[in-house]
Amino acid sequence: MVDLLMPITRIRSVGARSAAKLEKLGLHTVRHLLWHVPSRYEDFRQSMPISQVEPKQTVSIQGRVRSVTTRTIWPRRMHITNVIVEDESGAIRAVWFNQPYLEDALPEGTLLSVSGKAVLDKRGLYLSNPVYEKTGATLRHTGRLVPIYPETEGVTSKYLRYLIQPLLESVEIPDPLPEAIRREYGLIDLATALRTVHYPDSLEMVPAARARLAFDDLLLLQLKALSERRVMNVQRSPGIPMDTAYMRTCIAELPFPLTKDQRVATLEILRDMERAFPMNRLLEGDVGSGKTVVALLAAFHAARAGWQTLILAPTEVLAQQHHRTLMALTARIPELHTGYIAGSGAAIDGSPSTKASVKKAISSGVLQIVVGTHALLQDDVRALRLGLVVVDEQHRFGIAQRAALMRSSEHRAFVPHLLSMTATPIPRTLALTVFGDLDISIIKEKPKGRQAIITKVVTAEQRPKVYTFMREQVRAGRQIFVICPRIEVSSDPLHESSTPGGAPRQKTLQPLWADVRAVTEEFKRLSKDVFPDLKVAMLHGRMKAKEKDQIMREFKDGWHDILVSTSVIEVGIDIPNATIMMIEGADRFGLAQLHQFRGRVGRGEYQSYCFLCATDDSAEQRRLTVLAKTEDGFELAEADLKLRGPGEFFGMKQSGVSDLAMAALADPLLIRNARLLARRIMKSDVALQQYPILKQCLENFASLAHSE
Ligand code: ADP
Ligand code: MG
Repeated sequence: MVDLLMPITRIRSVGARSAAKLEKLGLHTVRHLLWHVPSRYEDFRQSMPISQVEPKQTVSIQGRVRSVTTRTIWPRRMHITNVIVEDESGAIRAVWFNQPYLEDALPEGTLLSVSGKAVLDKRGLYLSNPVYEKTGATLRHTGRLVPIYPETEGVTSKYLRYLIQPLLESVEIPDPLPEAIRREYGLIDLATALRTVHYPDSLEMVPAARARLAFDDLLLLQLKALSERRVMNVQRSPGIPMDTAYMRTCIAELPFPLTKDQRVATLEILRDMERAFPMNRLLEGDVGSGKTVVALLAAFHAARAGWQTLILAPTEVLAQQHHRTLMALTARIPELHTGYIAGSGAAIDGSPSTKASVKKAISSGVLQIVVGTHALLQDDVRALRLGLVVVDEQHRFGIAQRAALMRSSEHRAFVPHLLSMTATPIPRTLALTVFGDLDISIIKEKPKGRQAIITKVVTAEQRPKVYTFMREQVRAGRQIFVICPRIEVSSDPLHESSTPGGAPRQKTLQPLWADVRAVTEEFKRLSKDVFPDLKVAMLHGRMKAKEKDQIMREFKDGWHDILVSTSVIEVGIDIPNATIMMIEGADRFGLAQLHQFRGRVGRGEYQSYCFLCATDDSAEQRRLTVLAKTEDGFELAEADLKLRGPGEFFGMKQSGVSDLAMAALADPLLIRNARLLARRIMKSDVALQQYPILKQCLENFASLAHSE
């Protein structure tokens, strides 16, 4: 029997070229193929005698080929293949375009099953470009509910069906969950779930099948998180005793009073760091809610006790920004020494320096707080006494990177505490499921004196008015962001049924290039037609990091009035002079993401505005008005989760969580059950001795996550 881990290259029907295409899709093993679940189904269940077929119906018929003819129509050189299929009740024509090879593939007498749409023209009733297969073996493509897989270039649903259907019959599918547990949690067995998800007898059976598959993924995520947590908990971290008096002084030295949420978050962090095992805390708060200050207070506290802090930012611009904040706040705390290190520069205590000197000062312990980009993760950076690592907007910063940093500490006995920060308002269940078992602090309250951002949904005819307003703002010295949407490339193979014979599919645009095109066009339009008198700049993901950094810096320094950008623009960027955030194609974005864009204005003293340009669709306009009503990112994220599902949750697609598990995140009961079971198993049987198959799955899952 074939086993799940067999590489696809060993499947007899997979040639080298197909294998390469499948591997590009991430399908390397039989398991990957079986877990590649359909996005929808084509309903070809309506079978009938040929004589009963009526126009406009989607039908399935069975019969034998009476005749085949192919005509070529010049000048377009279109090949039309006509096949007459007959059964006892009558005969019907099936017509295919540009698949002349069918003439040889379907000789007279072939027994066929054909599914497709019946069309009436002046020559009579025919099936237009139907799906067909020879009868004999189990039906895969016709006569039943037929799976349609997520579309990809060069790999058709028909091909995937051809591969997957026989596997469903020949592969041994051991169930990681014993029957007693399945019964307890109301789950169907794995083999049935897989067969059903690919070839359901009825659509009503699909949810239970998907739930079972998702449950396994959620369980594995939880088990992995719990076992990582166990590993962490036996490691030692510096227990830093709470120095309330010193913290009071530091807080008093700040140029502003902390908000209540900031104080609570600071306290939670310092409490974690008191304990002698590693902190793993996520600090969540909208852009501008003041997370950096909280992290810096923790760093001051660690420094006071003789421990160093490394602060990692995802980009150079953000690293510089954190560095500036650090310099401003340490001005009144003279005993602190700080460093900065990034791709293009380095500094010690705010003065330019060399990277080598900074590294040396890190390893000698002179620098207590160092801000940088990933340059900080390099092998030759070795901190003397690393106590705390702060990571900004790096959702996937995990155990592996922490291990790298551990190696970078001379004090190898100690694992540094970890504080991650994010402006993504990730709902709690989602965070716990995706990032494992971490603690969460949330800053909801905005610092005092922040103005509410005026948010408006803009229709097509209001646009000229908005442009006039934009010009006025620029005249007054302000700056403007314009965000362009990604042009989505259809992932729904609607035209699948029109090319069932495996005709070459049209090449699809790469989404990233589509982004670039959208932003380039908008840039041209704005700079040439709308605002020829203003300075307009452009930013997109296909630019080199250096180029992007430079444009961001120039914008920050006021060289450009308007910045047209894709959604790549930095989340945490602080440009107090920017007062308008104009979002084109706002219907393409989730509410939480729109909220994040909006957070990039309103950071200074000026009244700021967010304009959402959308289609005239009234449901869409209603969705967007929610944004005008609330500035609570978490509320918006929850609304998104309900409206669009977690798969749409930005950034989550790359998190390594399967689509199935993603979809299941909207199912609280399933999540709860998976968490409960994971806990129960870890408590009673850490080594998973009673669950050998589950153990194997977990090992595969863990090694997969590490190789990312
Ligand atoms: P975040 O990282 O959460 O986006 P920052 O920490 O960069 O936010 O803070 C944004 C700005 O608000 C900074 O200029 C910071 O100095 C300021 N700030 C932070 N906390 C407060 C506060 N409690 N009161 C007033 N201003 C604050
Ligand atoms: Mg920030």
